[in-house]
Amino acid sequence: MTSLSGITPSGRLTLGNHLGALRRFTDPDGFYFVANLHAMTTKHDPRRLAALTREFATLMLAAGVPEGTVFVQSDVPTHAQLAYLLECTSYVGELSRMIQYKEKGNRPMTRASLFTYPCLMAADILLYGAERVPVGGDQDQHVELARDIAIRFNREYGETFVVPQLNKAALATRVKDLANPTAKMSKSAADDAIGTIRLLDPPDVIRRQIMRAVTDSENEVRHDEANKPGVTNLLDILAACTDSDPVELAKSYASYGALKQDVADAVLAVIDPLQKEYARLATDPGAVEHLLVQGRDRALDASTPRLQAATRAMGLAGSA
Ligand code: ATP
Ligand code: MG
Repeated sequence: MTSLSGITPSGRLTLGNHLGALRRFTDPDGFYFVANLHAMTTKHDPRRLAALTREFATLMLAAGVPEGTVFVQSDVPTHAQLAYLLECTSYVGELSRMIQYKEKGNRPMTRASLFTYPCLMAADILLYGAERVPVGGDQDQHVELARDIAIRFNREYGETFVVPQLNKAALATRVKDLANPTAKMSKSAADDAIGTIRLLDPPDVIRRQIMRAVTDSENEVRHDEANKPGVTNLLDILAACTDSDPVELAKSYASYGALKQDVADAVLAVIDPLQKEYARLATDPGAVEHLLVQGRDRALDASTPRLQAATRAMGLAGSA
């Protein structure tokens, strides 16, 4: 089963991105990309986008995402090419119902790409015949749209695309913001937001942020999301970093201080090797470049036949 996932360079990567996404990019036959085309749906700074794209790709490699599976979306032109064909397969009505568009868009100065990017995301998925799309719950609606588009395309133009599966079970921990534990930790938070753990922040900063995490006025360590979101988030993070059960973990703590110490140790044990590998790769841009070229070529080879099939199916027969 082919696995595919992209991650948009819209801010520095967080612990949430690592535990919920990067860490699960393990399929040696998978396709994992820096979704830089998706980072242009709102006003963007070209220099920052280029720097973040390189940082993301390097972090993916540092996190152990299998070599050859990592590429930069804009390096593989089939994505934008298929996206146009899928824009011609989808309806204004269904795109207007996308939650992200309803929240962020629908104003005169909204970029047209914010409206159409679910078609680009459908292209990302459908190009590779991916059945498994390991994304968080915030992306469910887009995966569902990709399914609808694939089904419609196959019906109207002939069997071309694999219909991807919906992610049913909760696939990963939702890491919450340490300062506001009812909201999710997000990379597009302000760069200096104290509740966001950035993967490349210095270890002492990360430890300090965890020690300052918002809890509650009781002192009982209990896994109870509704009544104790801060403590529950810390237990979930500890469980995700140590591969254990958060409800069981709660029983071994008598104070918030001791819990926070262990969370900090566990988070740094995950982040430290990643930062070391990042630092090593960052001094060897040639090696990163080489891996990205390898990833690009593999993605181009894998996606071209399906783009050609879709092109022909739609009646775009030209000189060939
Ligand atoms: P943005 O604020 O730009 O949406 P984000 O942090 O939500 O940033 P995305 O690019 O939307 O990141 O998502 C990248 C991947 O990381 C997705 O698979 C998403 O589900 C996962 N992810 C994002 N935030 C978290 C989180 N707090 N906990 C677990 N997984 C997360
Ligand atoms: Mg998001």
